[in-house]
Amino acid sequence: MSEPAPAGGRLGRRVPRLLRSWVAANPLSAYVWLMCLAGTAVVSVMLVAAVHTPTDSWRIAAAAALFLLADRPLLEIRFGRDNESFTWAEVCVLVALVIVPLPILVPAAAFAVLAYHSLMRHHPFKSLFNGAAFALGTALAGLTVWVVGGEAAYGAHFDVRQGFALAAGALVFSAFNGAAVALAVALSERLAWLDVLRKGLWLRSLVDLGNGLVGIGVVAMAVWSRPTLLVLPPVLAVMYAAYRGYLHAMQERDLWQQLESACRQLNQLDESAVATSVIVNAAAMFKADTVEVLVAAAGGRPGTLYSGGADGVREVRQESLDGIGGSALSDGTGDTSALMVYATPLEGPQGKAGVLRLGFRGPVDLTKRERQVLKTFGHSVSSALQNVALYSEMRTHAEAKAYEASHDGLTGLGNRALLHDKAQIALAGASDDWQSALLIIDLDHFKEINDTLGHAAGDVFLQQVGQRIVSSVKEADAVCRLGGDEFAVLISGLRTPEHADAVAARLLTVLSEPVGFDGLRLSIEGSVGVACYPADASSFDELLRRADVALYQAKTARGSFSHYRVDRDESSLHRLALAAELRTALAEDQFVVYFQPQFDLATGSPVGAEALVRWQHPKRGLLAPDTFIGAVEHSGLIRDFTMVVIEKAVAECASWAADGSQLTVAVNLSARNLLDKEISTDVGRVLLRHGLPAERLVLEITETTMMSELEVVEEVLGALRTMGVQLSVDDFGTGYSSLAFLQRVAVNEVKIDRSFVGGLADSESARALVRATVQLAHSLGARAVGEGVEDEVLAEALRTLGCDFAQGYHLGRPMPADALRKALGLRQVPRAVPGPRTDVEGRHLRAIAG
Ligand code: C2E
Ligand code: CA
Ligand code: CA
Repeated sequence: MSEPAPAGGRLGRRVPRLLRSWVAANPLSAYVWLMCLAGTAVVSVMLVAAVHTPTDSWRIAAAAALFLLADRPLLEIRFGRDNESFTWAEVCVLVALVIVPLPILVPAAAFAVLAYHSLMRHHPFKSLFNGAAFALGTALAGLTVWVVGGEAAYGAHFDVRQGFALAAGALVFSAFNGAAVALAVALSERLAWLDVLRKGLWLRSLVDLGNGLVGIGVVAMAVWSRPTLLVLPPVLAVMYAAYRGYLHAMQERDLWQQLESACRQLNQLDESAVATSVIVNAAAMFKADTVEVLVAAAGGRPGTLYSGGADGVREVRQESLDGIGGSALSDGTGDTSALMVYATPLEGPQGKAGVLRLGFRGPVDLTKRERQVLKTFGHSVSSALQNVALYSEMRTHAEAKAYEASHDGLTGLGNRALLHDKAQIALAGASDDWQSALLIIDLDHFKEINDTLGHAAGDVFLQQVGQRIVSSVKEADAVCRLGGDEFAVLISGLRTPEHADAVAARLLTVLSEPVGFDGLRLSIEGSVGVACYPADASSFDELLRRADVALYQAKTARGSFSHYRVDRDESSLHRLALAAELRTALAEDQFVVYFQPQFDLATGSPVGAEALVRWQHPKRGLLAPDTFIGAVEHSGLIRDFTMVVIEKAVAECASWAADGSQLTVAVNLSARNLLDKEISTDVGRVLLRHGLPAERLVLEITETTMMSELEVVEEVLGALRTMGVQLSVDDFGTGYSSLAFLQRVAVNEVKIDRSFVGGLADSESARALVRATVQLAHSLGARAVGEGVEDEVLAEALRTLGCDFAQGYHLGRPMPADALRKALGLRQVPRAVPGPRTDVEGRHLRAIAG
């Protein structure tokens, strides 16, 4: 049987619960009320006791006067909205303890402090809190003196014990006061109490200690020899000046340190990253509640407004630049607006580029120094944003260019170049049970559609075929248009070559479905040639050619597919012959290295040379690298080949060094070299053998996006860097990849492609791009080298744009080693034949290998 609980009981239980939830929701109010309650209780008890404590009225007046002074900030140091204020409180309390009995002192303290804050028109809440806290602190201090000294401070004889007692009282007072205020701040700002307490703790302790000493000193002087009190004012003045000077110096040092670190953090290439760092740092530096960065957009379009605070960006939205100087500043939550706003304009090359605004929810007066810092910070932010803008302009340009260069305009599919790039990565990861397949699709009778229905119809038809192919293969497979009516599909991850045939059969079925065009239903058939890597070919070129051979075989039986079969392919023999020739060329040392000098644009002096390989072919004469590098790359000989070039280049550079020169030598790496984990060890070995410092060797890399994403590439480049070899990004600006790459791999040099340099004389956009590249290089801590300087006009243009080094026919053509030495006035040093490895070298080697 259950009886209903009496209503009173239920209410009784509910009230504490309501109270608890109110306290949880309003911890600060609860705390202040608690403090007031305790203060009132103590003051009441004291008032009762005071009735039985006769005292002179001058004493009460003196106590009140002291306490009116006690909570008055003696020094205010503003860190943004937070005021750190320092008072004479301990001095006042100690002196008052001695001249007024405690029961009178405590109420006097409460009322005087309350009165002071009310007179200053502080919030009643704050006034009450301070009055109560002061009364409690004073009461605790009085009790401490009593307990430690064995008698009340008032009317006591002053001796060593009493001195100790007063010191303890001051300590208790300042500890209580510090803790109580820190708790209030922590509750109002929702911070951890200990963190608030710790902030500026030792500074506060120092000031309190000084105050305590002064307080005890005053009491001692007053008791022992009143006239000595006359020296008090100058002593206090000196102390005051010392506090002040010290605090300001600290504040200043902090501010500049913060500015320095804030500026350092601006060095980023992405607008929102810069904005975030500006907001977080400005909020911390100036203790602003809200920071806004408005970044203007080009051509009068609305700019981007980032707003936030110390915790990061809270809101991003479009806003026009007309808002510059506007004082309303939202705090991101939209419900309050800042009371005080400080703004500094951001300047760009074409004038105003944005604005940086600080918002404070309370009245704040930035010092002259803070305004200076804000202005300086504004300048740094302006240049960081300029860098970002140039960088993004370059990126857009490069991406558009790369897209065009790698895509087919009609179908939007990739083109031959993209297929090549994608194949590089697919082939790098292929193996016997992870085959890659290339399918080449050719449409039969497409020409008839073009001829009878016109080219427009042909175009639509090709687009539809492209879509069909895309939708019938996996997303990871690459579909490209090779030209005309020829398409290619690159598939990776096939368990066996036969799996590719299934895809080919499926494609044929899909293609044979009629295509709707202008009310007609056109039927078309295709042929597919299939070849796999590594089953059928050992390089991409070979794969492409063999898929082509297979396609040719398929065409003989229309509407079918054919897988490459070596017994039907006669042309394979030629391949083998070329590979054999390259092998002979390596074995018989037919490759020679020419050197093209590079110069410092500022001083005109030579700084190094780039090694450019030539093939001294026994029958065909001197061959340019473009004619055979591709074949070398696909022959499996690229590693030996590259090491031959490095060996020759390093040997030559070592001979320059032996002649006292500091010239560097640059060698071009093939993308494939970056997949080779051993290369760094090999390079290290060559450097050691010739005794050439690693930093004299510059390795030039031109990468593709795919390559730069491979882990092994980063590993190889990382190892080379660690060794001290310099890295250079060659032909910068010609691939969309370079930018992403630069952010990951720290390079020493960026070589601006000659297609940009060539346009410097008459193209404004070429100038803008080169300028951006130079700035970008510099912001990454790399030097910029202009290539293809064919006349003095280009050299001068590069110099004006701040480019560091230059290379080109105008300054010196690629030439044999002897010619270069003569041209640069270097002595002909017989090349030293490296002797057997010494022990020292062995140790170095192990260090490098490790
Ligand atoms: P690259 O690395 O961009 O080398 C610069 C090319 O520009 C050289 O062509 C050089 O002769 C040419 N050049 C220099 N100044 C001027 C100028 O003022 N105007 C013009 N129009 N051209 C100038 P080269 O020697 O025919 O080399 C062509 C490319 O072959 C090189 O381009 C590089 O990518 C590659 N290459 C050369 N040697 C090696 C090598 O040892 N290994 C690898 N993997 N590639 C190499
Ligand atoms: Ca190069
Ligand atoms: Ca180049």
